[in-house]
Amino acid sequence: MLRIKNLVKVYPGPVTALQGVDLDLEAGMFGLLGPNGAGKSTFMRILAGLLEPTSGAVMLDGEDILAKPERVRARLGYLPQEFGFYPHLSGEQMLIHLLRLKGVEAPRGLKALAGELLERVNLSFAAKRKVKSYSGGMRQRLGIAQAVAGNPRLLIVDEPTAGLDPEERLRFYHLLAELAGNRIVLLSTHIVEDVAVLCPQFAVIRGGRLVAKTTPRAARAAIEGAIFEGTVSPVELPELRQSGSVTQAILVEGRHRVRVFAPDGSPPLGFERVTPTLEDAYLVLMRSGLAGLGGDDPGRGVVVAPGAPGDTAGGGAEPVHLVGVRS
Ligand code: ADP
Repeated sequence: MLRIKNLVKVYPGPVTALQGVDLDLEAGMFGLLGPNGAGKSTFMRILAGLLEPTSGAVMLDGEDILAKPERVRARLGYLPQEFGFYPHLSGEQMLIHLLRLKGVEAPRGLKALAGELLERVNLSFAAKRKVKSYSGGMRQRLGIAQAVAGNPRLLIVDEPTAGLDPEERLRFYHLLAELAGNRIVLLSTHIVEDVAVLCPQFAVIRGGRLVAKTTPRAARAAIEGAIFEGTVSPVELPELRQSGSVTQAILVEGRHRVRVFAPDGSPPLGFERVTPTLEDAYLVLMRSGLAGLGGDDPGRGVVVAPGAPGDTAGGGAEPVHLVGVRS
C-alpha cells in the first residue's frame, strides 16, 4: 500500500506546487487527473525519489520512501514525462544501458533480461533498430520496459500518452492494463480518456490540491440527471459559457453542440437531458473544487458533495469523496 501524508512542495519563487496532498492507494491502476500546472509531475517526481518535498511523508508498504530512497527505489519503476534516449543506440543497447544504470539484478545477464522486457512490451521486432527511428509510442514502450524491470511494486507513469496518436495510445493502454497486475500503477494525465479507459479509481488535482478521489462510475453518477445537451449559434455560445455551466462544446456543421451542467434541472430552452460522460464529471469536479476553495459559485459544489450515509445516488454507486474542500 502507498500512503501519502500532507505532501507539500514549495519551489523557489516561491511557487507552491503541492499544498498538502493526502492519498492512500492499494494495488491497481490509479489515475491522477488535472490540467497543466496542477502539480502532477511534482507529485510523481517526489514519489519516484527524484525530488525532495518541503514537508510530508510517503510510505510504501510501511517503509518511508523519503527517508530511505535507495532501499525503496528497487521496488519502484518510473516513466518520466520527458525520457532521455541516446538516438544512435539500438533499442536493445539503450535498454541494457538503462538497466545497468538502474542496477537491476539479472542472473542470466542484462542482454537476456533486455530481450525478455522487449518481448513484454512488443518491441522485439525493433530491438536492433536505432532509437531515433522509433515512433513516439515505441519510445514510450521502451521507457516502460525499463520501468517494469525488477518487477516493481509501484509503477509511476507521468503523462504517458501525451503526443501519441490514437492508435499508439490504444496500444499503450493495452500494455499498461496488462502490466497493472498486482502492483500499484499511478498514472498522471490531463486526458480524461486515459482515466475512463484505464483507471477504476482516480483523483482530480488542481492548484496543488486534490479536489476529489472517486471512481469514474461514481463521478458520473453524482451528476446523473444534471447534464443537458442542445445546439446553439456561435453568437449564443459566449453568453452560455459566461454562465460557467458548459462542460463541452463541439462545432457541428457551423453550429455548436453544447453540453451544460444544470443541477437545478433548468437548462436553456430546447436542451435535453443526456447521460453524463466522465469528461462532464471532470469539469464539474474541477469547478466544485474551486467552489470549495471559495473561488467560484459555492452552490455548484453541492452536487458532488460526499453522499450521506446510505446515499445511493445513481443506483448504488460509490460516493464521491471530496478531498480537502472546505464547505
Ligand atoms: P503538471 O505536471 O500538473 O503540469 P507541475 O508539477 O509541472 O504540474 O507544476 C506545478 C507548478 O509548479 C506549476 O506552477 C509550475 O510552473 C511550478 N513548477 C514546476 N517545476 C518548477 C521549478 N523547478 N521551479 C519553480 N516552479 C516550478
